[in-house]
Amino acid sequence: MADFRSDTVTKPCAQMIAAMSSAQVGDDVYGDDPTVNALEKRVAEMFGKEAALFAPTGSLTNQLAIRSLVKPGEELLTELTSHIVRAELGAGATFSGITTRTWEGSRGSFKASEVMRIAAPEAGPYLVSTKAIAIENTHNFGGGYVQSFDEIKKLREASSAVGLTMHLDGARIWNAHVASGVSLKDYGSQFDTISICFSKGLGAPVGSAVISSAERIAESRIWRKRYGAGMRQIGFLAAAANFALDNNISRLVEDHDKAKQIANACAQVSPEFIDAAGIETNIVALDLSGIKISAAELNAQLKEEGILASALGPKFLRLVTHLDISDSDMAKVLEVLPKLLKRALVAK
Ligand SMILES: *Cc1c(COP(=O)(O)O)cnc(C)c1O
Repeated sequence: MADFRSDTVTKPCAQMIAAMSSAQVGDDVYGDDPTVNALEKRVAEMFGKEAALFAPTGSLTNQLAIRSLVKPGEELLTELTSHIVRAELGAGATFSGITTRTWEGSRGSFKASEVMRIAAPEAGPYLVSTKAIAIENTHNFGGGYVQSFDEIKKLREASSAVGLTMHLDGARIWNAHVASGVSLKDYGSQFDTISICFSKGLGAPVGSAVISSAERIAESRIWRKRYGAGMRQIGFLAAAANFALDNNISRLVEDHDKAKQIANACAQVSPEFIDAAGIETNIVALDLSGIKISAAELNAQLKEEGILASALGPKFLRLVTHLDISDSDMAKVLEVLPKLLKRALVAK
């Protein structure tokens, strides 16, 4: 099976497993794991921040971050289709008592002026006060959209002037960094908290980190334990993350190139399926709304031909390229997907 469902499906390579099995470990709840401590220091420095905290998932690091910025009954603003409001199962409301409001942006994007228009800082005793804004970069449901760094800077300036904080859901910040050329430190300088994942494009089997000030991370360390995610000899996992940082960032250009090839092949059948020029990273989001076939049906047809993708909406089919996509996987998808789309187009 050629597995394009997600960049989470990668398996650790032999060298990564070797790095994991030779890791120095200790009890991380006691702060004794040297490999975890080194990883936390490393990623904090990469983004120009004071401290970081390793955690099992990006949902948890997002949640630790936003709870450090927004108190119960206060508000977080984010985009309508962002992971924080669509794919974390209401965690912000459930665990932190946070309310959310959303703006709708093409492919998950934003205009600083539009976000500031709906922000309500210090709203007084009758209205909910906005405390923080979360930006997803790249944007998953937006088809790997790379946010404009100019808009990020504008939003940072306008929002901090009225006392608002900013969180970066950077599960795929590596893809954004490689595609845009914006340095990780520059991204870091615009946000109060950052969540990153090692288990998406970078190919580690597990692991995320939240990055911020020393004070916020000390608080997040307590909450991580309270959420039940204080782990012990996890240097084995941190070693995989370190290996991923050493080896798997710059190669993301290959994933981006493969996604572009798939997008181009689909756009050649009909430009209604995708704007191939807009595909800058590793996610190909196909819009099937102009034809009769549903995403689930097309997905089933692909599966019969040995290709796995994700039907994320009635008319939304997603393919993601990653470390484990081989040349033969590419040959297969470039042959089969346009063929099936052509057939569906004729049947429309
Ligand atoms: C995958 C992802 C996360 C974190 O997901 P986990 O499965 O909890 O690790 C967060 N944000 C975005 C945009 C993601 O794609």
